[in-house]
Amino acid sequence: MPDSNQPPPFEGRNLYAIHTALRESIAREGAAWADKRLHAWGALLGRAETFALAERANRCSPELKTHDRFGNRIDEVVFDPAWHELMTLAMREGEHASAWTESRRGAQVARAAAYLMHAEVENGTQCPLTMTFAAVPVLRRHADQLPSPKSEWLRRVLSREYDPRSLPATDKSSALIGMGMTERQGGSDVRSNQTRAEKVGNGEYRLTGHKWFFSAPMCDAHLVLAQASSGLSCFFLPRFLDDGARNAVRLQRLKDKLGNRSNASSEVEFDGATAWLLGDEGRGVPVIIEMVQHTRLDCAIGSAGLIHAAVTQAVHHATHRRAFGKTLIEQPLMRNVLADLVLEDEAAIALALRLARAFEADADAAEAALARLATPALKYWICKRTPAVVAEAMEVLGGNGYVEESALPRLYREAPLNSIWEGSGNVMCLDVERAARREAAAVEALLTELSLARGADPRLDRRVAALSQTLRGGSFEEADGRRLADAIATTLAAALLVRHSPPAIADAYCASRLAETQCIFGTLDAGTDHKAIVARASPA
Ligand SMILES: Cc1cc2nc3c(=O)[nH]c(=O)nc-3n(C[C@H](O)[C@H](O)[C@H](O)COP(=O)(O)OP(=O)(O)OC[C@H]3O[C@@H](n4cnc5c(N)ncnc54)[C@H](O)[C@@H]3O)c2cc1C
Repeated sequence: MPDSNQPPPFEGRNLYAIHTALRESIAREGAAWADKRLHAWGALLGRAETFALAERANRCSPELKTHDRFGNRIDEVVFDPAWHELMTLAMREGEHASAWTESRRGAQVARAAAYLMHAEVENGTQCPLTMTFAAVPVLRRHADQLPSPKSEWLRRVLSREYDPRSLPATDKSSALIGMGMTERQGGSDVRSNQTRAEKVGNGEYRLTGHKWFFSAPMCDAHLVLAQASSGLSCFFLPRFLDDGARNAVRLQRLKDKLGNRSNASSEVEFDGATAWLLGDEGRGVPVIIEMVQHTRLDCAIGSAGLIHAAVTQAVHHATHRRAFGKTLIEQPLMRNVLADLVLEDEAAIALALRLARAFEADADAAEAALARLATPALKYWICKRTPAVVAEAMEVLGGNGYVEESALPRLYREAPLNSIWEGSGNVMCLDVERAARREAAAVEALLTELSLARGADPRLDRRVAALSQTLRGGSFEEADGRRLADAIATTLAAALLVRHSPPAIADAYCASRLAETQCIFGTLDAGTDHKAIVARASPA
């Protein structure tokens, strides 16, 4: 057999065991107790069979069936069995629930690690898992306003048994929750929502209108925004009603999306749909924002997973592929590219897991304040870096990277999404500015966190001093939003890396990310220890 100079398959590895930065972050951020479970989850996810399920679920996209053969409306979405299998695995692992059911410190961090590894393999299934995870705090806070039997909703949402049947939630072992805010005339500006809510009594309303994006419509209920007489309000909209009838939620069509193709994202009409008010009328945004804050956390974690998947595939390929008499990884210029990608990967992992710690149930006021500022900044930054990282990683694989059989094209299509939904880039940066101007405690919490790295690197000290002046002095214009979010994210990443990562990584990150805005990967200083940096991401 002639030497084909092709790398061996990447699949068949334990995604946790090979991920040094993730394991270190887990221990550091308080979830070392979950190590064994994460090893098992990493092994399951890394199997060739799981990668095959992911590929199939995305190739065989869901289909909408609006009517049955007798002409009755059914508003069903039919998924490939691979989707159901992936959902079964992820729910058993508890990606939607473990952060709430495990009362130990580190529960959010452990769940974040599980979610991050899932993102390395498949992303569409993460949409309903995230939305269900994120809905729990809202459902708990407003449990007394849920339709009867009230406590049953939460019990089912926290169940780890995936139940895809189209039945009233009371007849099912578990329930999934989605979210409907975006309308045709406006998504970021939800105040422009036109869907009307008319009061029936006892907390019950009838919704009439539409949602332009309504993902995972097979969820058992959605939290939706609609205009009631006192203004924009949040409602709990179940898919089925008490009498077993389908709620008047009409699926119009499924979106034909760039990526995320295993998941169904629909357009819906509400034709007098029955829903229950959560919180007070006119307070819809403050109610749903608690859910949104958690979905933004997941966007950051999920994109860190996408970055890691692309970077490890690139390092794997370069380790085995030879050109001009040497493996690619031995070529100095390629090593610079890989090292630069690994820096982005290390930063994203450290940031995502640190952010998850700020969401722990026992987080104090300072941690909550840090989350207020860091969530939009990191959601913006990590998600924004993802398409650039994936594109560069794809090129490392050469022509193979552009071919569907490699994992890269799917990662590439997936890469921009987390930046668009749950608050697009600019909207995140405006939120960073709002928090920085209005919430002094958030600014101080961030600066306190940064001060833990004081003295470790003069470049970082200078950057922290400048950022501190900008934030405390409020010396930024609205148009500076991206610069500000970028500065917060890269400074926090540098502070985490100088404290916790090998010196070669910390040094190269400070040298490259705290200086000029970096546009192209592979432009690290020639004296950088590229080899030591790349070794961190080697899946071997
Ligand atoms: C695959 C997919 C699934 C989705 N699923 C759901 C779902 O399940 N539920 C749901 O509610 N939504 C969902 N969305 C919708 C998504 O959240 C919105 O598309 C997003 O919030 C942006 O809203 P928009 O499309 O109306 O764009 P706009 O609000 O019109 O924004 C367009 C651009 O303008 C920028 N912009 C807006 N305001 C400003 C400003 N003041 N200053 C500067 N720039 C600004 C934004 O950052 C964005 O880049 C989904 C979207 C996608 C792509």
